[in-house]
Amino acid sequence: MTSGLFAFVVQKHKATALHYDFRLEIEGEMPSWSVPKGPSLDPSVKRLAMPTGPHEMDYRNFEGIIAGGNYGAGAVMIWDEGRYSPEIEVDKGVRRKVTQLSEATEVATASLRDGNVKFTLYGKKLHGSFALVRTRGFGSMKEAWLMIKHRDEYCKSGYEANDYDFSARTKRSLAQIAAQG
Ligand code: MN
Repeated sequence: MTSGLFAFVVQKHKATALHYDFRLEIEGEMPSWSVPKGPSLDPSVKRLAMPTGPHEMDYRNFEGIIAGGNYGAGAVMIWDEGRYSPEIEVDKGVRRKVTQLSEATEVATASLRDGNVKFTLYGKKLHGSFALVRTRGFGSMKEAWLMIKHRDEYCKSGYEANDYDFSARTKRSLAQIAAQG
């Protein structure tokens, strides 16, 4: 069974505004994007994903409450977690999954720099091929990315992350986490 080379996590986070923090392991840290509506398995939607900088690997294990007064104060759920493998586009619309570790590190690093990250997720909720693509941004935003589901057998039209309000690790809802810590 293929299970991916590197870690990923999606943390549902009720800060000032609800959002989902999507994090991919690349070279020992986790570059991150804040996705207001959360990832979708619907290939017809493009989800806004604002880069928030790298987080430490250990942070992927955090579920609980960021105390009031701190940046991002509010409840955090491990909404999805698992492994991923980078992909490279070998021809227009044709992708190859990278299975060799040293090539995968190179591909992930280069694609992050180039603003076009393609990958296959092996999560508990999210599966299949996705892309994160840098755009020029809208209005006052300096840099915006879009998260897009590629067409494959894991697509679900109308998929909304908010419809799946339970932790991948503890099954708790965000309200339960907010109450229990
Ligand atoms: Mn956050």
